[in-house]
Amino acid sequence: MEKATRKPHVLVVPYPAQGHINPALEFAKCLASKGVRVTFITTKGVIKSAKSSLCGLLTIDNVSDGSEDVKDPESIECYFKRFKAVFSKNLARFIDEQRNDAQVIVYDSTMPWVLDIAHERGLLGASFFTQSCAVSAVFYHVKQESLRFPYQDSVVSLPSLPALRTKDLPSFLEFMDSKLTVPTVLADQFSNLEKVDWVFLNTFDKLENEVVDWLASRYPIKTIGPTFSLLQTDKKLSNSKKHTISLLEPACTEWLDSRETGSVVYVSFGSIASLVKKQMEEVAWGLMTSNCYFLWVVRPLEVDKLPENFTSLASEKGLIVDWCKQPEVLAHHAIACFVTHCGWNSTLEALSCGVPLIAMPQWVDQTTNSKFIEDVWGVGVRVKHGEDGIVGREEIAMCIKEVTQEDRGIQLKRNACMWKDLVNEAVEKGGTSANNIEDFVSKLIFGQ
Ligand code: UDP
Repeated sequence: MEKATRKPHVLVVPYPAQGHINPALEFAKCLASKGVRVTFITTKGVIKSAKSSLCGLLTIDNVSDGSEDVKDPESIECYFKRFKAVFSKNLARFIDEQRNDAQVIVYDSTMPWVLDIAHERGLLGASFFTQSCAVSAVFYHVKQESLRFPYQDSVVSLPSLPALRTKDLPSFLEFMDSKLTVPTVLADQFSNLEKVDWVFLNTFDKLENEVVDWLASRYPIKTIGPTFSLLQTDKKLSNSKKHTISLLEPACTEWLDSRETGSVVYVSFGSIASLVKKQMEEVAWGLMTSNCYFLWVVRPLEVDKLPENFTSLASEKGLIVDWCKQPEVLAHHAIACFVTHCGWNSTLEALSCGVPLIAMPQWVDQTTNSKFIEDVWGVGVRVKHGEDGIVGREEIAMCIKEVTQEDRGIQLKRNACMWKDLVNEAVEKGGTSANNIEDFVSKLIFGQ
């Protein structure tokens, strides 16, 4: 077995949103740490608004998706059409002009058309799924039309998945248009998967055993997650953990250092979800009623929805920040639990840190993730909505009490710590995710 003299070269192309960039970047850094040359290609818009960006381990390049020329608000349908048309043209041109010696393009699964660009140029293609395997399987069934959207039945039974009620299935109420654009984009992750060379999933085998096996009997699936934890165990690379592309400015979290172990409720609804004003107010008063310390991420565009003077009223108990370094916050000893929208990255980051969850899902895959958080992995409770669709302050305070003070909370913490150990097992040398990545890298280096 002769080692190739040139480093293999991989292009990594994420979808340009924080929740897709983060896992792709962690995977890219992991490949680079193993001797692969990696070019991370994002959009001009992401680079322009990034408050921090790496490099060191990787090369970062960008191409336009045309968003800088958009003057008026676009419909979802126009957005996806323009994104695909402009980004694919510019990505193809970029690869041609660079006379790129890349062998593989790892692309976000929501951009299946990148596979054609790869194959037309003699490159291999790897589709990278940033949602759970369970959610991916649901979209597979939507693509196959064995599950129709809008959902017809109140409970559905799909192979290798628990029975899912309508409220557990991915929710598109916020994104409804007559063309069903968003459900179609998500189902299209499976549009050309039979031609793909690899399928990477940001999950790990033990977390989703049955459904991973089920999907693996159809596609060349490799679990490689949680990508967030891949470099965690490598002390030499701990500095590279700090290399991120952050679309908002992280606030410093020294405030946490002065808090006791397990005393702070961390609250965040991710990078996109926007709660209605009434819901923000209920969260605010629910946190105050709980009487716990809290750290709440309220993005700048959401601040106006807080009750008047809330930041100063709450200052003895709570800190409100625009953005934080969430992985560092979740790993902090002071964190007791995480009130979350159940984005897949947030879910995996919490599992990796052994933090119990209070699930307050908003849309798309988050509803399904919350079902697994509560009923399958036993690491959290899911809030109940009132008849007006709002989660009331008493409910929020009660969930916080349950998770931080009651017997159920002790069990949830125990389960969360068990999952943390299983995450470590998957990403450490010899673990399932680590082995899958080693296999990929050795195929690149040795061609086998
Ligand atoms: N995040 C962060 N700081 C914050 C809030 C979120 O760094 O204050 C990161 C978080 O660690 C995660 C990503 O943003 O990696 C959010 O992704 P997720 O899938 O949880 O939700 P989305 O934003 O896609 O809805």
